[in-house]
Amino acid sequence: MRINTDLLHAHQLHARLTGSYEPQAKAHVSPIYQTTTYVLDDFDTAVYLNQHVDEGFVYTRFGSPNCDELEKKIAHLEHAEAALAVASGLGAISTAVMSVVKAGDHVVFGDVIYGCSYALFAKVLTNLGITYTRVDTTNVAEVEAAIQPNTSLVYVETPANPTLKISDIAAISEVVHAHQGITLIVDSTFASPYLQNPLDLGADLVVHSATKYLCGHGTVTAGVIAGSKARIDRCRMPYLQCFGAVLDPFAAWQLMQGMKTLGVRMERHCQNAMKVAEFLEQHPKVDRVYYPGLPSHPTHEIAKKQMHGGFGGMMSVDIKGGMDAVRTVMNNMKVFSLATSLGNVDSLIQHSPSMSHFDMTPEERYAASIFDGQVRLSIGIEDVEDLIEDLDQALALI
Ligand SMILES: *Cc1c(COP(=O)(O)O)cnc(C)c1O
Repeated sequence: MRINTDLLHAHQLHARLTGSYEPQAKAHVSPIYQTTTYVLDDFDTAVYLNQHVDEGFVYTRFGSPNCDELEKKIAHLEHAEAALAVASGLGAISTAVMSVVKAGDHVVFGDVIYGCSYALFAKVLTNLGITYTRVDTTNVAEVEAAIQPNTSLVYVETPANPTLKISDIAAISEVVHAHQGITLIVDSTFASPYLQNPLDLGADLVVHSATKYLCGHGTVTAGVIAGSKARIDRCRMPYLQCFGAVLDPFAAWQLMQGMKTLGVRMERHCQNAMKVAEFLEQHPKVDRVYYPGLPSHPTHEIAKKQMHGGFGGMMSVDIKGGMDAVRTVMNNMKVFSLATSLGNVDSLIQHSPSMSHFDMTPEERYAASIFDGQVRLSIGIEDVEDLIEDLDQALALI
């Protein structure tokens, strides 16, 4: 089927009437299995299933029907053999990363990535004897030059949070896979599977903060990983089982509802964001707009090639007048909410240097074009005229 049909019907529980699911359960919307444990038929079944947890349900940390349904859906949408549901985006990232690296390894990652992902590499893995090099992943030659004999992971976020830089996944994959034993992980949160499929371009694992576009309504904190069965099995066992960052069945169920409208939401996010970006780009109080759909964006051509015809709902904006101007704008928005996070149906505004990217030093931020006068907008699905008028009235107060 095509993607908008798949978003509704692929791997829905009511379409699967065999296996461990209740054969009578023909509920149109899947039930929530809000239980921590499962009654096992007899002693031999208990022994068997504890050793084969992917063949039935035993204990919710090992798997649940709601997570199983979500995982099959994500694998389908990312063109992957398998997927894993995790309790947050960072849970997905740390589980995927830990399944790949060991003491003594070296990691290459982008100079513009989500702040807590940066902190994982710079503040946690360094304690385990894992070194790193930060590079501009939009420059494939820089990625190649950073690879060392002990490099085991190249980690790319595209579009990158918050400056929306686009890295060429296919070109990076070619460079990475010319070496043996290096895994390429791509954080595709800003695109969602509707706009980009990194595995098709050569990535080994794709991770998402499902908190964002996959949920779409700001009601669930969740993450997912997708890739080959062998890689996902390893992420699941022992890593996720030992870290314990499993997704709750109710959260998995909510994600399944949110994802049904991913296609129509993304279409409107893309349309609205393009119009807002064009408006802001010619606004006298604005220095620069970072939106990959604008021809002025430095990596617009890669975005055109790599994304499925849309550029997403995220942008950053350098406002003239620095932090004081930002304060005026953020304190006077009426439709946009002053809140971090992104990918919700309603529009949000945040200040990246002091919110999502506070883990970076000022020097690291400036070098990555994350300036003090920069706000990040998550463009919602409201009537775009109202969004533009809201920005216009707040900018006029500077
Ligand atoms: C929000 C975000 C994360 C972290 O996800 P959580 O669900 O908050 O843990 C990771 N990567 C990107 C690009 C994000 O925007």
